[in-house]
Amino acid sequence: MSNFLESVNTNFDKAAKHTGLAKGLLEQIKVCNSVYQMRFPVKVGNSYQVIEAYRAQHSHHRLPTKGGIRFSQKVNQDEVVALATLMTYKCALVDVPFGGAKGGVKISTREFNDEQLEKITRRYTMELIRKNFIGPGTDVPAPDYGTGPREMAWILDTYLTMKGGEIDAAGCVTGKPVNQYGIRGRTEATGRGVYYALKEILSYEKDMKEIGLTAGMEGKTIAVQGLGNVGYYAASICQNEGGATIVSVAEYEGAIYSEKGIDIEKLMKYRKSKGSIMGFPGTKKMKSRKDVLTVKCDILIPAALENQITKGNARSVKAKIVAEAANGPVTAEAGEILNKKGIMVVPDMYINAGGVTVSYFEWLKNLSHMRFGRMQKRFDQHRYQKLVDLVEQKTGKVIAAKEKKLLTRGADEIDLVRSGLEETMITAYGEIRDTYKRKKSISDMRTAAFVVAINKISSDYLSLGIWP
Ligand code: GLU
Repeated sequence: MSNFLESVNTNFDKAAKHTGLAKGLLEQIKVCNSVYQMRFPVKVGNSYQVIEAYRAQHSHHRLPTKGGIRFSQKVNQDEVVALATLMTYKCALVDVPFGGAKGGVKISTREFNDEQLEKITRRYTMELIRKNFIGPGTDVPAPDYGTGPREMAWILDTYLTMKGGEIDAAGCVTGKPVNQYGIRGRTEATGRGVYYALKEILSYEKDMKEIGLTAGMEGKTIAVQGLGNVGYYAASICQNEGGATIVSVAEYEGAIYSEKGIDIEKLMKYRKSKGSIMGFPGTKKMKSRKDVLTVKCDILIPAALENQITKGNARSVKAKIVAEAANGPVTAEAGEILNKKGIMVVPDMYINAGGVTVSYFEWLKNLSHMRFGRMQKRFDQHRYQKLVDLVEQKTGKVIAAKEKKLLTRGADEIDLVRSGLEETMITAYGEIRDTYKRKKSISDMRTAAFVVAINKISSDYLSLGIWP
């Protein structure tokens, strides 16, 4: 078994003890229900390459199953199963009514051109269709490491080619481009979820004092590993809306540091033109890209891949909060070490759940065949307008045009998506924190999150009468 899957299962076992549930039920929740391992040929240039790929459905306690598709050279069955497992707990934690799944295609995206990537994506989708591993009511993929809206559009198009008559076909995949049945706010969702979660965590003054921080995000120093979709939006929103200072950033090519702060937007532009973050004005080069993990800062956001903070470097972590924006960046052993050091580790299954939350909204939009806000936006606007008019009339005072516009605005899709996401992150944190505070024997937030998730899943089984 890989370290990653072992880590996830170790964490599960640790939490299971606190639930008091029957052994058989815990075993059913823990195991992966089905894995489809496939190999298919794709013509690259003049020859054929055999591609290895997977789709794991960890739990069918709720359907459809849900989870991203990863394109990476490091993909293997254990990794896909570990990621699918995390999806089950993640969905339960944030009340997204799906089972967990994950897909993986073992390729390095750098080694293929766009046309070849499209061929691989479409062929992979065909395999899923053939085995009934995709569909709005069975299993709904989404983006993950190495994939994005473009790949999701290819998946949808392939699905429509085969199943065009299905009325809800558009709900067979999420994270699609907005003009291809996607939803506004999905691309930024995981990063924005990280921001809402951190804002909520930082709002508890007493909790923050215990770990040596003041309340509020303003002025907090942040280090980010990975400027992909998750890392970029998390850093950018924490900087622009939360007033945090990004002091260190690591990417494929290396890591940089600046005490004064790194403007993420400018850094992204720089990287686009130079092909690297190295040499960005005002920053120092760090020895190794992994140095970002041990830099002095308030909050560390590992937003790349799993197994980054291990027992080898955990003792050198200096952040007060580690926010697991990636899936599985802290190993179970490293988690114990950080915990002993008094560092708060905010678990992946909570802090990166923003992506699947907005995927759920997208799926709902697809099933309802209508954009959120279409029915009520103008109705609200007219009502607020009447209210503002009345206030002006009764008080004899005029409200400034800018304020009036703000007060009378009806909600658009993006407003509703962000509001739903914020609500989800705040509610889920409340549940984790309650469990953490209530049970003295639970010593870390990950265990608390697992307990909340396991209890929710078990109640599904129990209410079905499957377990006495
Ligand atoms: N791949 C993302 C995750 O790990 C999103 C999954 C989804 O939207 O279904 O949570």
